[in-house]
Amino acid sequence: MIHYKYSIEGIVQGVGFRPFVYTLALKHSLKGFVLNDSSGVKISLEGEPNNIDIFEKELYSKLPPLARIDRLEKVACPLKNFNKFIITKSKDTQSKHSLVSADFAMCSECLSEIRDETNRRYNYFFTNCTNCGPRYSIVKTVPYDRPNTSMQPFTMCKECQKEYDNPLDRRYHAQPISCEKCGPTLSLKDMNGNVLSTNLEALIGLAHFIKEGNIVAMKGMGGFHLICDATSDKTIKNLRQKKNRPSKPFAVMMKSIEDVVSKCKLSSCEKSRVISKERPIVLLKTKKNNISPLVAPFIDRLGVFLAYTPLHVKLLDFLEKPIVATSANRSGEPIVTNEEDLKSKLSGVIDYYLDYNREIINSSDDSVLQIINYRDLIMRASRGITPLSIRLKTNETRKILAVGAHQKNAIAIYMNNQIILSPYIGDLDNIETVEAFYKTLKTFKEFYDFEPDLIVCDKHPLYESTKWTKKQDIPFVQVQHHYAHILSCMLEHDIDEKVLGIAWDGTGYGDDGTIWGGEFFVCDRNEYERVAYFEPFSLLGGDASIKDIKRIALSIILDCEEDKIYNSFLSSFKKTELNLLKQMHKKALNSPNCSAVGRLFDMVAVIAGVCDKVSYDGESGLILESLYDYKIKDSYDIYLEDGIIKYKHIIKEMIKDKDASLISSKFINSLVNIISIISQNYSLKTLLSGGVFQNRTLLEGIINKNDNIIFQNLLPINDGSIAIGQLTRILSQKN
Ligand code: ZN
Ligand code: ZN
Ligand code: FE
Repeated sequence: MIHYKYSIEGIVQGVGFRPFVYTLALKHSLKGFVLNDSSGVKISLEGEPNNIDIFEKELYSKLPPLARIDRLEKVACPLKNFNKFIITKSKDTQSKHSLVSADFAMCSECLSEIRDETNRRYNYFFTNCTNCGPRYSIVKTVPYDRPNTSMQPFTMCKECQKEYDNPLDRRYHAQPISCEKCGPTLSLKDMNGNVLSTNLEALIGLAHFIKEGNIVAMKGMGGFHLICDATSDKTIKNLRQKKNRPSKPFAVMMKSIEDVVSKCKLSSCEKSRVISKERPIVLLKTKKNNISPLVAPFIDRLGVFLAYTPLHVKLLDFLEKPIVATSANRSGEPIVTNEEDLKSKLSGVIDYYLDYNREIINSSDDSVLQIINYRDLIMRASRGITPLSIRLKTNETRKILAVGAHQKNAIAIYMNNQIILSPYIGDLDNIETVEAFYKTLKTFKEFYDFEPDLIVCDKHPLYESTKWTKKQDIPFVQVQHHYAHILSCMLEHDIDEKVLGIAWDGTGYGDDGTIWGGEFFVCDRNEYERVAYFEPFSLLGGDASIKDIKRIALSIILDCEEDKIYNSFLSSFKKTELNLLKQMHKKALNSPNCSAVGRLFDMVAVIAGVCDKVSYDGESGLILESLYDYKIKDSYDIYLEDGIIKYKHIIKEMIKDKDASLISSKFINSLVNIISIISQNYSLKTLLSGGVFQNRTLLEGIINKNDNIIFQNLLPINDGSIAIGQLTRILSQKN
């Protein structure tokens, strides 16, 4: 007989880990105990060495679906002669660094229960177990125990309590469990707050309102969704008008994978991602289907996700139709999580709403990704993915906070060899999102007992995150935006050598004070050299150019030699406006220099005549992508001269080419070429990061033409992982 004590860290609380250990111990006749503490799980195990060996193997090979072991330490101890194996009560200590798990989609066992008439949870809309359901959205503080969650006001009925207490039950210590007798109540309400019906009738009533063409709201996992019939042009048009959202695509929620397959073309890899426990929105190619073209106008792709809570599943059961389900918010603001905000912010948009009396403590949005080359390309990391923890080997003992960028902000913290990335917060352009940024900081401090010794932020002096950092009485370091992009990619892929880092995005503060975003760096984790970049142009009127993209094309044309070929374009401006913009250009008034590739897509979309104003980030790129023709192999002559990439002259040829599809294809091909040319100059791994690479056609083109291309798969490829890059900068510094 031998006795070992184990300390296990990772995602091991609230995911059925202790009952799993209990079952394994019984199976292999081992004695001792298992308990949760503030850093994870502790096990004491006594038995035959052989049995302990098998136990250890199965600890990894049979791990419950939501659990993850990051670190396991074991020490031999004197025999205690335990007479049985038990699960003991959580040990409370001062320091908190156990991980809070993300929220997960309903598991298949729970799904079959709510569809089984003989089961006591038949049709029950808050069904969950240790293998599924909410976590992050309901937890107020750690450890993750029912009294620390928003399920605290609901006392379990006898039957639920029995399941909760039985280590052999799938619901053993599943903190949010409940049933119709003891759980939260659903209420269908009109905009005056009058309750029209409750529970199952409420859900049936909601389905009825949706069928009739109403726009409704429903409280989901991390916030309210705006919901309506995805097959009705009239309803979608109405939603676009009321939300003042002319063209940004909406995501569509479907009932089953069969439903998705009937409406979209998907690979087996995409299929497995759609049904995964994270249930992200996956961007898919569509085929002929009954979904309104107004859901995602001008583009050939659709964001699709499956119903992921019992509530969504039942709603779609009653509806038999796909629905638009989009975060309920005022444009650009965070998702609404409570009735009061819903009524004050969206009363003009919705007609009815479905509420329930369990509080959403921490908000999250739906995660968004696409599959490229069999790998995830994450565009928004939130529900199901974050909080995301990464374990590291480093000697760093300080606690470090990274506050990210401005767009697609998310924060990250480092402590005890662990990085934790927050859910997507949003663009820090309005008070509400900035408030959400503060709230996330507070939540993370509370969850992890975290007070930073050092803060890392962007170099941009006007980013809200930078301004906030400078107001704290804590030492801080600023990291260049595009270098942070590449560093986050290095961290994710565990690369610690010299690389060619290509960071293309829409904006970012450069070391020379101009706007960068077409960067080629030769860099490692300690330093970077800007070896190539796109020739700058002036952004006429600064931010005004970002929506009014005609100004970008104009600015670049004004940089070129005069030629009558530009006349028809110039004549599309009003005379006074043109004169004003020409003055701005000439005198460089309010016109910062910019070299961001994202803006070049805007220019091309204008010249191709497919778009001259954008209403959301990345719109021009998406439209150009949908026009791409794989048969066209030609490209424009974009070339490198003394480290500067020259492209302005190609506008002339674009105007001659006229055809939008030809222009788009040749332009994207030429970007692929320039990457090949430059990467051939260096025999280094090529790392890609930045929002421009969300362009699938571009990224696939680059991967097909080059070996050794590495892009982000675990972390968002856009500014959502800047905070991780910022941390990487500090963690790499030699002391
Ligand atoms: Zn379940
Ligand atoms: Zn119950
Ligand atoms: Fe960026």
